[in-house]
Amino acid sequence: MKKIIAYNRVEQPVLDDLKQRYDVRFFKDIDPATDPEFLSQLQEAEGIIGLELPVNDELLSHAPNLKIVSNVSVGYNNLDLEALKKRNIMATNTPEVLTDTVADTVFGILVATARRLPELDQYVKNGQWEIEAVGNDLFGTDVHHKTLGIVGMGRIGKAIAKRAHFGFDMDILYHSRSRKPDVETTFQAGYRTLDDLLTESDFVCLITPLTPETEGLIGKREFKLMKDSAIFINGSRGKTVVEADLIDALKYGEIAAAGLDVYANEPVEPDNPLLKMTNTVTTPHVGSSTHETELKMSELAAENLEAGLNGRKPPNLVDASVWPEKAT
Ligand code: NAP
Repeated sequence: MKKIIAYNRVEQPVLDDLKQRYDVRFFKDIDPATDPEFLSQLQEAEGIIGLELPVNDELLSHAPNLKIVSNVSVGYNNLDLEALKKRNIMATNTPEVLTDTVADTVFGILVATARRLPELDQYVKNGQWEIEAVGNDLFGTDVHHKTLGIVGMGRIGKAIAKRAHFGFDMDILYHSRSRKPDVETTFQAGYRTLDDLLTESDFVCLITPLTPETEGLIGKREFKLMKDSAIFINGSRGKTVVEADLIDALKYGEIAAAGLDVYANEPVEPDNPLLKMTNTVTTPHVGSSTHETELKMSELAAENLEAGLNGRKPPNLVDASVWPEKAT
């Protein structure tokens, strides 16, 4: 039986199914760099399936038999692709199956931030709504008919644009590495340079992958370009933003508010100033976390894994250059 390591989040039915055909070792919440049992199992493992395991040269030096790393996520900034390629190890992700769910989450955070829903929830639950209607100090700002700037017009960016354009009558601006004629036609979206997008948008939504080019993409200078009424939403990865600059921008009124699903360090430190502010809405990196979508992601990751382990081309190779023959 081929040995595989299942790491962190793989849904139970998928794990149970894999166990019928593979010698599965499951690890949760460990430090992969120091756990001796993990490192010893890695010696024999032919596949890894899981969420956000940092796979780098050092880890791979303990994995001489590894053929494939199957991420249960669309993002793959946890993988050192050069180190994998050097060893002809395949890497896969789970695009598409989570797109609508993440777009729902991001748009939900956007509405919650604009309309201050978490504060209002607390107001009612704290028994503060006694006689009068809620006052001016808890009013939010409209979402409909405003301008939404999307940075990263990929699969999820498009699904956000769809919700904003058809559902909320918003004007869409976008910035990506390349222009998207389909988006410009379907959502009447306008392409902008990053600077112009930041200057013109009421809402700025960041949904790029984390790469060397996007690390720190939004910092002090970019926050200064935004309107002081702007609401900033980050659904990408925490490190696409210079978090200290975001904190300052919120503190000094350079922007109005932020809705955040991702943080520079995760789990976010309890004393992070972002958690103490009233003009932030925070969620714990749950873009794709619904029962249905987590299961679909695990199933797709298992499909990728099994294809790679058994000489078939995985449907979601993140770096096709390691395919074909050498990898099997
Ligand atoms: P995708 O289809 O690959 O789209 C990524 C988009 O980002 C593309 O439009 C790409 O532009 C653009 N982009 C890349 N580098 C850029 C740069 N330097 N400047 C401007 N734009 C750039 O990926 P996706 O499926 O939409 O997912 C996007 C990301 O969302 C993931 O990588 C992940 O980090 C994040 N995510 C977060 C959660 C969560 O739980 N919060 C869940 C899922 C995904 P081009 O098209 O021009 O190349």
